[in-house]
Amino acid sequence: MSLILYLSVDCSEISRNGKGFGWPRPSRCPGCRGPRLWGHGYVLRFFDGTADALWMKRWRCPDCGAVHTMRPDTHWRGFWADQATILASLESKESGRRWLAHLGRERQQYWWRGFAMQRQFEGAVRTLAALVEQRVIAATHSLTHREIRTLGDAPHRIFAFTPPLRGP
Ligand SMILES: [Zn+2]
Repeated sequence: MSLILYLSVDCSEISRNGKGFGWPRPSRCPGCRGPRLWGHGYVLRFFDGTADALWMKRWRCPDCGAVHTMRPDTHWRGFWADQATILASLESKESGRRWLAHLGRERQQYWWRGFAMQRQFEGAVRTLAALVEQRVIAATHSLTHREIRTLGDAPHRIFAFTPPLRGP
């Protein structure tokens, strides 16, 4: 199991510092709760608003073997646009208005199709606000990595992560 670890960080800081950015180390593995995480290199990820891809730190848990990847909590896994932009687009469409003019229609339609899946995930159709409240990644097309949970173990940092759903 490998997880995305969300953290409140500034993308421009990461851009400026590259691999020198001081990612804080979570005190436990969000997968198995093991007490050690070792640095495991970096991977490049793209985000809207930064010219180049950014280096995201990875951690490896020696107990369960998982490799976890850090991510700014402004950006859901799998999306280049930030959450606020995606939510604004979905909100507009949900309330019967047009696609937002300053964003491509194709990507907004992709977000909307994800939302159409997520809002019916538990049966009855739910609102965007309800999904946000539940910390569901409202635009994801994933049926297994759809919720963000908090790993509340750091004294001054709140890490959050997307756990996979357990099978029946
Ligand atoms: Zn682990």
